[in-house]
Amino acid sequence: MNIQWFPGHMHLTRNAIGERVKTIDVVIEMVDARLPASSANPMLRELLRARPNLKVLNKADLADPVRTQLWLDWYAQQQNTRAVAMDSHHSAPARALIEACLTLAPHRGGMDKPMRVLICGIPNVGKSTLINTMVGKRAAKAANEPGVTRQEQRYVLQDGFYLFDTPGVLWPRIIVAQSGYNLAAAGSIGRNAFDDELVALELLAYLQRHYPQALQARYGVADNVSALAEMRDDALFEAIARKRGALLPGNRINAQKAAELILQDFRSGALGRVTIETPEEFQQWLATGERL
Ligand code: GDP
Repeated sequence: MNIQWFPGHMHLTRNAIGERVKTIDVVIEMVDARLPASSANPMLRELLRARPNLKVLNKADLADPVRTQLWLDWYAQQQNTRAVAMDSHHSAPARALIEACLTLAPHRGGMDKPMRVLICGIPNVGKSTLINTMVGKRAAKAANEPGVTRQEQRYVLQDGFYLFDTPGVLWPRIIVAQSGYNLAAAGSIGRNAFDDELVALELLAYLQRHYPQALQARYGVADNVSALAEMRDDALFEAIARKRGALLPGNRINAQKAAELILQDFRSGALGRVTIETPEEFQQWLATGERL
C-alpha cells in the first residue's frame, strides 16, 4: 500500500500536547462518528496521563444512528471516559459538553479552580466548528486546509471555564490498512496519500455488504437491492460511472471522476447516514488486518 505519511510535525505535537495536558482537567477527543476508531489518534491515550476523557462522536448527523449507539456503548465500558454524539453545528449539544466536563471533573469550574478543557482531534473532524458553536461566535478558523498549523488558542466559555485548541496538528495514526482507507474516504488525510479509485472501490465494497439499499437508492444501477448486493465490485463501479456520466471519449469510463463522485457522495451525506466501521470490526482488523 502506498502511503505518504506525515510524521514530520508529529513529535512537536506530541510534546506540545504532553506539556499542555499537565494543566488540563478534561480532554475532549473529537472523532468522526462514521469512523470513530480510525479517526482517533492512539497516541493521545498515552499522553492523557489519566485525565478524564470526553469522546465526541462528531458529524453524527452523517452517521448511522444504530451504529453510533454501538460506539457509545463501547466507549461507556472504558474507564474515566464519557462519550456523546453530536452535530457540532448545533448549539444545544455543544453547550451540553460543558455539563459533561463538569461531571468528569466535579472539583473544577469556578473562579478559583477554573475548568481547563483541551479539544483534540485530527484535521477536519470539526474542532473549529465545535469551538465556534460553543464560544458563540466565529472564534476559530473553520474549514481551513487540513494540516495548516494554528497557534494554540484559549477561549473563555464562561467564568472559570477555559477551552484550549489542539496545539499543533494531530495527524491520525494509521495502524491497520482499513483505517487508512476509511480516513481517505472521509477526506481526513492528504489527498495524495491514497489513490482515489482504490479508496472508492474499498468504500463501495463495504457499502455493498452493509448498506446496499443506500447504494441502490442513490444510483439505481441494479433491478433491486439484492441484485446490487450481488454485483461484482468492478461492475458496480462501472455502472455507477456510466449512470453518473463519468465518461471519456470513446465511451470509456473516467475512473478518476467516478471515484471522486462516489467519495463526494459519501462525504456530503448524499448516500444517507452510513458508518463504515463498528467496534467489533475494528477489533477484528486489529487482530487480523494488514498492520502498518
Ligand atoms: P477542524 O479541522 O477539526 O477544525 O474541522 P472544521 O471545524 O474546519 O470542520 C471541517 C468540515 O466539517 C467543515 O466543512 C465543517 O462544516 C464540517 N463539520 C464540522 N462538524 C460537523 C458536523 O457535526 N456535521 C457535519 N455534517 N459537518 C460538520
